[in-house]
Amino acid sequence: MATPTIPGGGMLTGLKVTFTTMIKTLFQPKKNLKTVNYPKVKEEPHARARGVIALDQDACTVCMLCARQCPDWCIYIEGHKEEKQPETPGGRVKVRSELDRFDIDYALCMYCGICVEVCPFDALFWSPDYEYSELSMGKMLHDKDRLQNWLTTVPDAPALES
Ligand code: SF4
Ligand code: SF4
Repeated sequence: MATPTIPGGGMLTGLKVTFTTMIKTLFQPKKNLKTVNYPKVKEEPHARARGVIALDQDACTVCMLCARQCPDWCIYIEGHKEEKQPETPGGRVKVRSELDRFDIDYALCMYCGICVEVCPFDALFWSPDYEYSELSMGKMLHDKDRLQNWLTTVPDAPALES
């Protein structure tokens, strides 16, 4: 036979957890607090934290895969083709894509990481840096040079397991 349940019992259990945590938080010593007084105190983010996306322009082939897969449509890429003449007579003319524009709008980005995952040429990386907030939404658009500058803040890849 099923045990009878008290109406509102689940809600009371939830409230008990909330109040217990609130009382513990209020009376615990300051040094145990999980928050810091930013910006006076700055936390060291985890090396693999998703702070901002860095772009390696030399590695990017303007394939557009990241822009097509981005669920927010917040990557804007433009490029053009350039012909490279053969170094030896009779050689084949090579066509190379040149990057003209690569912007990410961080006012729209939801930090899902799909663009970094799908890039087949290792041109996108996560940096743990998070200090780029702005007072205006328009300034959250990072162009290719600003995205390239984030490369210096990308941590080294962890060593391969042997
Ligand atoms: S992290 Fe996600 S939302 Fe942000 S630019 Fe990349 S694919 Fe788009
Ligand atoms: S997927 Fe990679 S190579 Fe292709 S456009 Fe995006 S960043 Fe460039």
